[in-house]
Amino acid sequence: MTKFSDLKLGPKVQKAIDEAGYETPTPIQAQAIPAALEGRDVLGIAQTGTGKTASFTLPMITQLARGRAKARMPRSLVLAPTRELAAQVAENFDTYAKHVKLTKALLIGGVSFKEQDQLIDKGVDVLIATPGRLLDHFERGKLLLTDVKIMVVDEADRMLDMGFIPDIERIFSLVPFTRQTLFFSATMAPEIERITNTFLSNPHRVEVARQATASETIDQGVLMFRASRRDRQASEKRNALRALIDAEGDGLTNAIVFCNRKTDVDIVAKSLKKYGYDAAPIHGDLDQSQRTRTLDGFRAGELRILVASDVAARGLDVPSVSHVFNFDVPSHAEDYIHRIGRTGRAGRAGKAITICQTSDERNLDDVERLLEKQIARLADPTGSAPASTDAPEIADPAEAEAKPARNRSRSSRSRSRSTPADTTVAAPGPAESADPAPTPPEPEARPAPEQHDRRPPSGGRGGGSRGRGQNDQVIGMGDHLPGFIEKSFEERMSS
Ligand code: AMP
Repeated sequence: MTKFSDLKLGPKVQKAIDEAGYETPTPIQAQAIPAALEGRDVLGIAQTGTGKTASFTLPMITQLARGRAKARMPRSLVLAPTRELAAQVAENFDTYAKHVKLTKALLIGGVSFKEQDQLIDKGVDVLIATPGRLLDHFERGKLLLTDVKIMVVDEADRMLDMGFIPDIERIFSLVPFTRQTLFFSATMAPEIERITNTFLSNPHRVEVARQATASETIDQGVLMFRASRRDRQASEKRNALRALIDAEGDGLTNAIVFCNRKTDVDIVAKSLKKYGYDAAPIHGDLDQSQRTRTLDGFRAGELRILVASDVAARGLDVPSVSHVFNFDVPSHAEDYIHRIGRTGRAGRAGKAITICQTSDERNLDDVERLLEKQIARLADPTGSAPASTDAPEIADPAEAEAKPARNRSRSSRSRSRSTPADTTVAAPGPAESADPAPTPPEPEARPAPEQHDRRPPSGGRGGGSRGRGQNDQVIGMGDHLPGFIEKSFEERMSS
């Protein structure tokens, strides 16, 4: 097994790694760091949780330890799709570069230009930015990119989802041709492939197994939700969520509740709070300091329930949670895998519970097709008759192939429709009628770009090309399970 000392990182970087308590490099680090130190372009196909951030920050710090930045001319550039991810990368630099004199600036929305300008004026070694904000600075004439020697694109697939690809292409055209490029994406959609073919030069390709997994340790269930009356749908659905949370008792240590719409994130968080639950929302319309506070609180175990949208939560390094609730079935089946992957990490038990209302059934079919199994139907937690309990827990995979999930779900759907769809209030509390504003009628096709600093998305998802082959083996980190995964989050934080 590779040791950090085999990687030839600078001694000061090595010291910071030791102090961080890392014992062995993760697979992406073992493979990407030597190539990056040789000055080669790297194409890393990996997602959060694999240690990918250190796989580019560590060699960058080693390389940048020599030399100095000139005013307004950063020596390296890291592009991240969201403010949170950019801030996370910046934290990584702080950790690993603490024994090296490097200056850095973080250019993200929600922070004044003036402060950022002052930093750039002094000269920065590492500039970490969201694409929109970077171009804003460039267009204001405050920034020159002609001295960039290393450029990193992190979470390129997310950039594609958020419509950032034209910005990325523009930024590539502004940095020197001779730069080194380190490019990371969780998946290789054709559009991403095109970008890498155009802008990377003979890259060293490193692919680590997807962590996206409907892990066997995650206990999954779905509540086929039917409101007693159409005009009560929104409040009864929130009531069902509370009943589902209550039913978990002390087994629920912390949870993320995912909603498809930003408006629901707010409404659900407010409603939970009103009923005495320790909950707070996170989405892109909240101001930066509030988002940071909420996330820090959740990471530190001070906040029990985080209500989140996909875009705000994805890619964030949050500790494993005991429960994930899907207030809605996500409109893209892959997001279901990402959402529930927040729990059941590193072989620990976890629970993922989804609420499926009639209009979500098509999405549920897609999820079950991707999982190649049917999710267990849960009894109504509010105490009414079970929605449908006769669905098998795990469908025979062979049968799943012969018979598409859609058909199987339809039959279970008609079964559940024939049951009384009453959701009487189980949890005591204030009258629901006092609940916040009603839910909008139809879900967004895709969560709107959130931390996007300037433009609306262009071109969407590249023809749905993020789709995953049905036969793809989902194997986490493969046979290799690095020690850091087995360590608890608290241990890692305190080390
Ligand atoms: P990332 O995939 O970059 O988001 O990293 C996931 C988590 O793993 C972060 O909390 C890192 O601090 C941690 N980490 C990264 N590399 C290692 C390593 N070699 N050993 C232990 N922990 C690591």
